[in-house]
Amino acid sequence: MNTKNKFLLMVTLMLAALATATIVNVGLNFREFAINAAVAKAKLTANIVKDGLTAHMVNHIMDKRKYFLNTITQNNEVKNLWIARGQNVIEQYGKGFSYENARDEIDREVLGSGKMVKKVTETPDTAELRITIPYIAQSTAQVSCLECHSVNDGAILGAISMEFDINSVRNASTLTIAKIFGINVIFIFIALLVLNHYIKPYMELFSNLRDGIKKAHSGDFSHRFETRVSGEGKDVAEQINTLFHKMQETFGEIKHSLSTFVTKSNLACSDPLFEAKIIIKELADIYKFKKTIELDDTKELVYERITTVLQTKYDIHNFSFYEIDRINKTREAIYISHKSYCNTNVDKNVNLCRAYRTDTDIISTDFPDLCTSCHHNESRYICIPFDISDEVSLTLNVVVDNASNFEDIAMSVSSIKNYIEAAKPVIESKILTDKLRDTTLRDGMTGLYNRRFLEQFIDKLAKQALRNDTKYSVLMLDIDYFKMVNDTYGHDMGDVVIKALSEVIRTSIREADLAVRYGGEEFVILLHNATPEGSLSVAQKIHDEFNKRKFNVNGEVIQKTISIGISQFPDDANSIWKAIKYADTALYYAKEHGRDQVIEFKQEMFEGEGDNF
Ligand code: GH3
Ligand code: MG
Ligand code: MG
Repeated sequence: MNTKNKFLLMVTLMLAALATATIVNVGLNFREFAINAAVAKAKLTANIVKDGLTAHMVNHIMDKRKYFLNTITQNNEVKNLWIARGQNVIEQYGKGFSYENARDEIDREVLGSGKMVKKVTETPDTAELRITIPYIAQSTAQVSCLECHSVNDGAILGAISMEFDINSVRNASTLTIAKIFGINVIFIFIALLVLNHYIKPYMELFSNLRDGIKKAHSGDFSHRFETRVSGEGKDVAEQINTLFHKMQETFGEIKHSLSTFVTKSNLACSDPLFEAKIIIKELADIYKFKKTIELDDTKELVYERITTVLQTKYDIHNFSFYEIDRINKTREAIYISHKSYCNTNVDKNVNLCRAYRTDTDIISTDFPDLCTSCHHNESRYICIPFDISDEVSLTLNVVVDNASNFEDIAMSVSSIKNYIEAAKPVIESKILTDKLRDTTLRDGMTGLYNRRFLEQFIDKLAKQALRNDTKYSVLMLDIDYFKMVNDTYGHDMGDVVIKALSEVIRTSIREADLAVRYGGEEFVILLHNATPEGSLSVAQKIHDEFNKRKFNVNGEVIQKTISIGISQFPDDANSIWKAIKYADTALYYAKEHGRDQVIEFKQEMFEGEGDNF
């Protein structure tokens, strides 16, 4: 039973209970009233009879009393009336007429006790009241009874009995009750109609609210509430509509904003709250992952972490993970779970890999032979390509036997890509660091990076610096009057001085800084994230350290000085080559102004030289 019907039934029962109570009360009152009215009439009649008989007695016409009694008896409302002589009167005046004797037990009881008796007799068709009232001798009455009766005060002289027909009262009561009942039924019916009329819109609103909230529970806030109810009900509907509108917009925005952080085709569901929760969890996991790999020393360790994520988070155990050299079109396995499902020919020619060649995810749902290089043995496979840089790509080849596992993994592809995307800059930077270790890019005499290194990697380094908001201070160093060393002490002595300077440089800079032998006795140093003051102090330290160095040549001790020019990237110049040029300009300024000093670049130094960068 719905709430509305329950409510109406409750109201009906309450009204019916009220009606029943009223009807019972009215019925009882009617009966009481009928009996009391008859008793009052009986007492009045008894008094009239008593006075009449007293008058007959005083006037000595007792023999005419029968006529008097008949007249009284003919009263319409008194159905029957008779009197009965008490023992005292019988003893004094004899038994009298035959109808003056006690007729039944009630008469005898009243004549014996002197107390009034009344009795109601009811059948389905009739209702009668019988009353018997005693006549008690009274000396204090208007006419003292003791004048005629030789009895004591209070003696029982006789009794009068009357029978009243109270059926008409009972009928009237039944009719009244029927009317009350009828009126109540009509009232209840009208009350129910009116209540139903007023409750119905509320019930509609209620059920509408229930439907809308049910939808909202699953994240759909598009429901709008309409109601015929006015006043508070309408206010409630309008306020909930406003709330739903806000929720819809806010969750939509949250969902949209979050979706920009991670690709989430596998997360698409109708509940934006649930979706937001999943995306935030994904973001948190990826953030933790990224923070961890950033502190890893090598690219191999980062690959190992990706492998662990695949195994633990995505429950993928049968897979191969490859690094592709895009320049040489070759491939190297990073991890193979137990056997490679991918043809080893691909190692020599990566274009045989469909995922790499087409740069699309290969999911063998409809075509088991989608990639001819994959030996799947009826198993399903997923291959995901991922470009790290122009030189390096990764491919992941997952093989699954179980169809439901396959669906799960296919759904996780975009999430897996989010992890590799997060790892991309870290892998890229590790690859760069590895390349920096390449000996072909180092100067044989000093062990510092050579100019080739600078030419090959400086642009990448600068791009990364701009992306990561990293700064570099550029120091350009040159030994003063170096030619003189060569000329005076020979070329070998010149080499010794150059090596000494490179040693001073190496011991004065940190791991993240880069020192490059730029020319004969010219050096470029890139100080990672140093402040202008910091870079000045490093330059001064190198300057002072080198100046202190003493060179012994055939018993003669010589000392050399250096000049240093400093510029800041990207604060002074938005291109790294421009910054190097500015450092060179500052160095030129130092040479021009007496050498043996550290000079920071100022824009005025460059005026007039043109800007070719
Ligand atoms: P300045 O103060 O203006 O720099 O005067 P400088 O004499 O140092 O002039 P400059 O910097 O032009 O001299 C560079 C010289 O360095 C010319 C070259 O012969 C010499 N040089 C270049 N590479 C080497 C090298 O590997 N070993 C030696 N011993 N000398 C070199
Ligand atoms: Mg020089
Ligand atoms: Mg020079």
